[in-house]
Amino acid sequence: MFVDQVIIEVRAGKGGDGCVSFHRGPYQPKGGPDGGDGGRGGDVIFYADPGLNTLIDFKGIRHWFAENGQQGRGRQQSGKSGQDKLVRVPPGTMVFNDQTGELIHDMKPGERVVIARGGRGGFGNEHFKSATNQTPRQSTPGQPGESLTLRLELRLIADVGIVGMPNAGKSTLLSRLTRAQPKIADYPFTTLSPQLGVAELDPERRIVLADIPGLIDGAAEGAGLGHEFLRHIERTRVIVHLIDPLPDEGSPAESYRMIRDELEAYSTELAEKPEIIAINKADLFSDRSEVDELVRDLRADLRLGGEIDVLAVSAASGAGLNELLEAMWKLLRGKSKAETGWQV
Ligand code: GDP
Ligand code: MG
Repeated sequence: MFVDQVIIEVRAGKGGDGCVSFHRGPYQPKGGPDGGDGGRGGDVIFYADPGLNTLIDFKGIRHWFAENGQQGRGRQQSGKSGQDKLVRVPPGTMVFNDQTGELIHDMKPGERVVIARGGRGGFGNEHFKSATNQTPRQSTPGQPGESLTLRLELRLIADVGIVGMPNAGKSTLLSRLTRAQPKIADYPFTTLSPQLGVAELDPERRIVLADIPGLIDGAAEGAGLGHEFLRHIERTRVIVHLIDPLPDEGSPAESYRMIRDELEAYSTELAEKPEIIAINKADLFSDRSEVDELVRDLRADLRLGGEIDVLAVSAASGAGLNELLEAMWKLLRGKSKAETGWQV
């Protein structure tokens, strides 16, 4: 499984101390106690934001602290409460206590959970006033906020699976589109494991991509490693089918059909996922019109309707890749994660 993992420190705010004060007015040189209570410390609250799909925002930010409550003051003024710290995580994030290994919470989409509670404010001396004690001098300190070292763990589910014949350029495309390479923990197949990466159109729009190698004839029957990979792309929401315009054997349309047959044999559900066809290696053609012709021919060969995008790209030069990312985003945005049962 692909695991994105990060260690952070959270600390809720300390409660403000209670205040010792006595009222002093022009005609009341010995007024009563009027020290206010301290404010509450802020909580650290986790929110599972359905728009997030990685833990990248935590890389490099270790401390997530809520605000302390303020001290109470004279004239019966309570201290201000500290602001809560809202921590946005992707749904499916498992929050562990790193010291004990205990699972604190498994974040469901849209959920808000207090992970570290702020300390209560202390009492001011006004609180201790009684019939027998008109001039209390005691107050109590604010309580400390909870503080924890957390391990956040997210099983990454690829939004987009890249399929295609060997040498179509899948690995090259993935390395070109993505900078972040999440840690891959204990994947049982070390020789041919699917690679995962995170493409960032901008900080609010990230796409988790998986390069699915080894999708070859017979993969759907469980031959070789293909089955495992297919299981992974089954969870993805969009397929990018990468095509070599000059394959060693057969035509681009034939290679396309071979891969499609695999997908369909494995699962109709999978075959029905929205798809983008990308003809790679456009840099091999000096003339733009040749590339346009390739796109036209493929469309005609495959009898494609208007609902499938066919783009020409070059993983090597980067040409057309922004358009490809935007096309992926458009398809992804059509359905929410919750709808597609993204969760394991
Ligand atoms: P994969 O088997 O689908 O992962 O394909 P690779 O990414 O390993 O690429 C296969 C070969 O095609 C390598 O020699 C790449 O350098 C080459 N290649 C990949 N993308 C391009 C491209 O856009 N243009 C050209 N000219 N070569 C490419
Ligand atoms: Mg490869």
